[in-house]
Amino acid sequence: MAKTKVAILGGGLSGLVTALGLTAPEQNDQYDITIYQLGWRLGGKCATGRNPDFHQRIQEHGLHVFMGQYDNAFAMVQALYAEAARPPFPDWRKAYTQVPAMSLMEEVDGTWIPWVIEAPVFPGTPGIDPPPSIFKRMFQFLGWIMKQLEGPHAEHFAGPADGAAPWWRRALHWLLALIGRGVEHAAIALLRDAMALVDRLDPDPVTHTKAQHNALADLLHELRVVINRTIGHLVAGNTELRRLWIVIDLGVSSLIGGLRDGLLLDPAANIDAVNRRDYKQWLMAHGADAMTANSALVRALYDLIFAYPEGDWQGSGDCEAGTMFLSLMNTATYQGSIIWKFNTATGDLVIEPLYQVLKARGVKFEWFSRIDELTPSPAGDAITSVTIGRQVELANGAYDPLYPLASGQLVWPDRPLYDQIKGGAALKASGADLESKWTTWPDALPPRVLQAGADYDLLVLAIPPGAHRDICAGLIAQKSAWQGYIAAVQTVATQSLQTWTTVDEKDMGWDHPAMVGGFDASNLNSWADISEVLATEEWPHAMGVKGEQIFCGPLPCPPYPPPKSDTAYPQQAQAMADQSIHEFIDGKAADFWPARFGKGGPKAGTLAATYSRVNIDPGERYTLSVTGSSQARLRTDGSGYVNLYLTGDWIQNGQNLGSFEATTVSGMLASRAISGFPNTIIRLDAARFSIVRKAAGTLPRYVDYAGQVTFPGEIELGQTRMWAFLLKGDQAKMAAWCEAMFDTPSHSAVQVLPLSSYLMMSVVDIGVGRFADAPQMGWSRERELTFWIPVVRVADQDGMKVASKFYMAMPYLVLDNPVAIASGREIFGYMKQAGRIACPGDPGNPSNLAVDLFATKTFGPDSEEQYQRLLDLTPTGGSHPLDEAVRGFEGGAKALWSRLTGDAQTWYPSLKLGEDLLGDVLGRRIPQLFLKQFRDVADGTRACYQAITEAPGHVARFDSIPQLAEYDMVLHALDSSPIAAQLGIAPQQRVRGAEFVYDMTIAPGTVLWQA
Ligand SMILES: Cc1cc2nc3c(=O)[nH]c(=O)nc-3n(C[C@H](O)[C@H](O)[C@H](O)COP(=O)(O)OP(=O)(O)OC[C@H]3O[C@@H](n4cnc5c(N)ncnc54)[C@H](O)[C@@H]3O)c2cc1C
Repeated sequence: MAKTKVAILGGGLSGLVTALGLTAPEQNDQYDITIYQLGWRLGGKCATGRNPDFHQRIQEHGLHVFMGQYDNAFAMVQALYAEAARPPFPDWRKAYTQVPAMSLMEEVDGTWIPWVIEAPVFPGTPGIDPPPSIFKRMFQFLGWIMKQLEGPHAEHFAGPADGAAPWWRRALHWLLALIGRGVEHAAIALLRDAMALVDRLDPDPVTHTKAQHNALADLLHELRVVINRTIGHLVAGNTELRRLWIVIDLGVSSLIGGLRDGLLLDPAANIDAVNRRDYKQWLMAHGADAMTANSALVRALYDLIFAYPEGDWQGSGDCEAGTMFLSLMNTATYQGSIIWKFNTATGDLVIEPLYQVLKARGVKFEWFSRIDELTPSPAGDAITSVTIGRQVELANGAYDPLYPLASGQLVWPDRPLYDQIKGGAALKASGADLESKWTTWPDALPPRVLQAGADYDLLVLAIPPGAHRDICAGLIAQKSAWQGYIAAVQTVATQSLQTWTTVDEKDMGWDHPAMVGGFDASNLNSWADISEVLATEEWPHAMGVKGEQIFCGPLPCPPYPPPKSDTAYPQQAQAMADQSIHEFIDGKAADFWPARFGKGGPKAGTLAATYSRVNIDPGERYTLSVTGSSQARLRTDGSGYVNLYLTGDWIQNGQNLGSFEATTVSGMLASRAISGFPNTIIRLDAARFSIVRKAAGTLPRYVDYAGQVTFPGEIELGQTRMWAFLLKGDQAKMAAWCEAMFDTPSHSAVQVLPLSSYLMMSVVDIGVGRFADAPQMGWSRERELTFWIPVVRVADQDGMKVASKFYMAMPYLVLDNPVAIASGREIFGYMKQAGRIACPGDPGNPSNLAVDLFATKTFGPDSEEQYQRLLDLTPTGGSHPLDEAVRGFEGGAKALWSRLTGDAQTWYPSLKLGEDLLGDVLGRRIPQLFLKQFRDVADGTRACYQAITEAPGHVARFDSIPQLAEYDMVLHALDSSPIAAQLGIAPQQRVRGAEFVYDMTIAPGTVLWQA
């Protein structure tokens, strides 16, 4: 079979991870992959280069570390080091140095002083051990608070310490005592309730309820009140207590917000609403002190993700609250140390082994290939071609991008390997930068145009957003989703400085863990000592290089990179960066290194070398998570073009901020969307983000087999006679059913209300039922009894419940046709059961309707499940003619609607019902709503698939209803299907029914929510 040709545009981490997934052994060599990359190296924002003119020093784009919660990124590195023929380190662990702390710089009375936050080393290894539950960490955090208050700050607090109890129980007992001393009795009761709740909480929040989370939030709120009351008035003059208060307030307020806003219950469903606020504003809205929100601690969080649009590093910053919250929760569940520094260049540690493995798996690389334009078809359904600028001509037709250090380690150079390029000497002499949008180097060859079908079957766009206005202009013009995304997602330029020193940190006067953030005195606001990498550089002994540091931060910049014609921009940006670097080295650096730096610069002989760069190119700019932008991000399978997938830290990836982990997940998502592999994405799958839903075209094929009874496509129900009855039920009972079936499993992502206290009961006799696309199967008769609840899907808006769509939901269906039972359950999620239905005209039955259900009448071990009488409908002979106006479909539907909605206002005075809700019905579409689920094979109490689905029934023919007939109804009690009791229907009553004939089709549906 011919392989699927995949062209990956951009060789950064996301493009490479996509290729890794598509070439995994599990794929059975299905994909023929080519990666197109600008310039001479891979890695993008984490590309690095060795400079042979400076003793093979490493030149980074900026400060790069892994965090201890990067499970997918670690797992990938671990797998690469196992597979690569020549990994950079024989053991992946040797590639990292763990840092169990984060140092901040805090301005106190005009002086910048360090604030070291130690972070415990937790057991477990990221990528290998499953990440711990956030709830476990939450209570460890409470335990830490207790330790602080019992230990160094005990003079302000006192509490019992029962060493035998589990730590979290001790924490809660302590809280109980604390609150008992100062606060009213009600708080004690609340805390007792919360203790019981905590005792019951499962590590998997899928089993939690909103009420449990609100109760926990209340508990934490009480805790914050008590602590603030005890030490709040003391913090102004006491640095220790102020810092303690900020850490507690930040942690507790974040948790309160996360619990109250449903971010720990169902992040996917609730995050968009939270993301409309900046994190600092959100913290304060959930009760955090302004001192906390503006602290160096929060500032450092913004610094680490360059969260300053247009590089305005002195501004307040902008980061979506939900995105930051989830990132902090993930960070809290780190394993090993919180920070893992690199022991060699970023490009050599992560990107080189990726290249090595992909090359060995047969991936092709097209170097010096600049993507200039993606051209969509006029119909907007596919990308028909890709135009590529060819920057150089290769001397031997191929390019080998790495070279060896003296140790033999293969590394990336900081420049093209000129001897492999035709005219390489002239390129070298020109000093032109082939990675720059503003390069002065003209393309050496005419453009190459890749054609869909001939050169690729599928495209993966792995080029970041900074470049999209240029290369995706046609897509943006065509699709509103692209316009929305491009308007919402912002990027920022960054700058970095590396220094090589002849003394180490200690001798320079820095005696703390050297991974630092929050230094607001400069736009180089984060730095780390990276002296570990010196072992892979080749500084001569005589130069006495003992230390290496890297600084990083946002660079003031326009919102979008200037046009290509603005060739002076790179020099202007570099001059701006150089200015801030001079200011830093000549003055502000003394705040870190008082022993060797002072006003006017470092002591002579301290600095052996410096390297600075600006990351201003479209692809180099860091992707921000500005307020409200996540919602507009595109999904990997959401380009709107059948042959274009998206990947990178800018797509919907469940984290939505620029990091190795988010990028690794993005690559995995792209591979999964194309191929179904990988099956597992750590954390993302557990968080049940629906962004991982595969495009229909990429789901595994249904395996056809002889004897199957379900078929794809429409189901036709022809020559159908229906007897329909409007019954009064119990609104509250029906609401409880809707909540259990829709709101609870989806954690309110799909909220459903019964429209009124009425429901419909119908018996149908379908003359000809068939699968429209499997005519060879012929047809079958089918009879059904259905209970229909008219419902609306609602959303909360300004204190109102606003209905967005009308549906019929069906708690009970009884059928006599095994094919219809199987297809209804398997395809849509109908809750179908087997029964026997007698209709008027059956032999010996001139007029009655009767239904038997295969059921258990009375629960008990000796009860035999068998056909039991469920329903008797006996005509009384009475009849009521209908007005002409309500005999037809539309007239009848409107009359019914006005009855239902009139009743609705009684139950929900704050329900807003739009007029268009009846639009579907008037168009003869009856949307139906289902909970579709399958039991898990290993744990039958769990669902291995669970989704809320909808499908429309189209009424093709409808004969008018001349009259209503009267029946005496008996709905028998069956323990296994207690219909009357469950829906609140009087089991014996006289009812009126309409008899009519119609044809209908049930069309393929859609998934509204999936676990
Ligand atoms: C200064 C800095 C420091 C960072 N530090 C950290 C950190 O410490 N920890 C962390 O987790 N994350 C960090 N990040 C974030 C992380 O580096 C990124 O999230 C990640 O590298 C993004 O990968 P990507 O594949 O999405 O995009 P990129 O890395 O940008 O890759 C895009 C690729 O496309 C190529 N390309 C661009 N335009 C074209 C074109 N027209 N034609 C052909 N190819 C093109 C680029 O050359 C590149 O190879 C940092 C980012 C920056 C900027």
